[in-house]
Amino acid sequence: MDELREDCGVFGIWNNADAARLTYLGLYALQHRGQESAGIAISDGSKLYSYKQMGYVNDVFNEHILSMLHGKYAIGHVRYSTYGASELRNAQPFAVEYKNGSLAIAHNGNIVNYEGIRSRLEGEGSIFQSTMDTEVIVHLIAKSDGPSTHERLAYALNELRGAYSLVVLTENELIAARDPNGFRPLVIGELNGSMVFASETCALDLIGARYVRDVLAGEMIVVTNNGMRSYLFSHRIQRASQCIFEHIYFARPDSLIFGKSVYSIRRALGKALGAESSVQADMVIPVPDSGVPAAVGFSQQTGIPFQMALIRNHYVGRTFIQPRQSIRDFNVKVKLNPIAEVIAGKRIIIIDDSIVRGTTSRTLVKMLRDSGAKEVHMRISSPPINYSCYYGIDTPTRAELISSSHTVQEIRDFIGADSLEYLSIDALRGVVGEDADNFCYACFTGNYPEPFELTKRDHQLILFDEGRLNVRP
Ligand code: SF4
Repeated sequence: MDELREDCGVFGIWNNADAARLTYLGLYALQHRGQESAGIAISDGSKLYSYKQMGYVNDVFNEHILSMLHGKYAIGHVRYSTYGASELRNAQPFAVEYKNGSLAIAHNGNIVNYEGIRSRLEGEGSIFQSTMDTEVIVHLIAKSDGPSTHERLAYALNELRGAYSLVVLTENELIAARDPNGFRPLVIGELNGSMVFASETCALDLIGARYVRDVLAGEMIVVTNNGMRSYLFSHRIQRASQCIFEHIYFARPDSLIFGKSVYSIRRALGKALGAESSVQADMVIPVPDSGVPAAVGFSQQTGIPFQMALIRNHYVGRTFIQPRQSIRDFNVKVKLNPIAEVIAGKRIIIIDDSIVRGTTSRTLVKMLRDSGAKEVHMRISSPPINYSCYYGIDTPTRAELISSSHTVQEIRDFIGADSLEYLSIDALRGVVGEDADNFCYACFTGNYPEPFELTKRDHQLILFDEGRLNVRP
């Protein structure tokens, strides 16, 4: 389901003569985590250079630009904005000169006490260049009088609450850090003696780097020419709250996230779903691409044959020209097209990873019926999303989440399916296994592991939420 968006991907490499190109490739592998802007900051050991633009990695960089990015130490970033507008001043890496030298930062996640810190800093005279939460980290570093960059960074990070997996580059050191809850992933790799950091292991795979381990929740790793040092920078580490949605939807299925194969987890979710809520049918079909592993698992569990009956157009960009004449269901059809020959006369179970507003599911069910499906049963490989995310995933306001105000039966009526079932939270926890207590499930349960400040949008949301959202046709 592509109604939810990730907010960023980060990459860093230390001591490689091909640092700019390898960072470009790392960002290319992480493109699914953010498509609004891309950037690289690089150091030649004495000076920091950076380049960033709006657009896809491929559009932002070319051979000429990469050849001008000299140095062996680099970080990179792809962005989807959850905080701050989608504009160039909010693109990352965010690079500054300050009293202790140059510094660039690339951040994935949302800082939930950002507004309070920013207004305090502005009250003390700080002038901000952007509207994104990441900039407060830079101001806090500049205000610290710690003797080294990593001590100044530790001071800054201990002021923050929320989600941050980040890489920081100075002229002569690369630092990677992950918040004490470990909301967002960050992995360590190694390539012929070069240290590599990336949001997901798919970025390591593309450049031929070896996965070493995850950066731990609350850990800071400092890399210099003298080697690597690891610090625990926070006393707040009790239990991690890793985002379960990385496994359900966001991460690439060929990545290891939080030490586990995303593909294997998604397939296991499908198996658990099949065990909980199967129904008589002729075939199981996925909503491609994210529903594919769960549909494979569902089919393996139930013995109902797997078929690809919806075909995804992989070449749809974020903007396309709309037809002048209205074409029914155009926005979904441009991405997914049904194969009527496979569907006609069949009882179909369609598997998706989540339902957000319900409008895409409704269109898909209708497309299957228009293609001649005899029955359409929808199965969802996660529990109903009842609450918004404040830790870096761009969920709509609570009132727009169909599950927050409708029963499963009402949602089934809205999407027009013959039946609808979700995976239970117990089954989800069972799939994660012994690690289950180290995950965040707040968008399902409302149990937020880290308190957040209410923004203006939230205040509007609370008023709006007093009534029930009417989404029926
Ligand atoms: Fe992930 Fe949901 Fe928690 Fe956000 S609220 S971090 S999407 S599990």
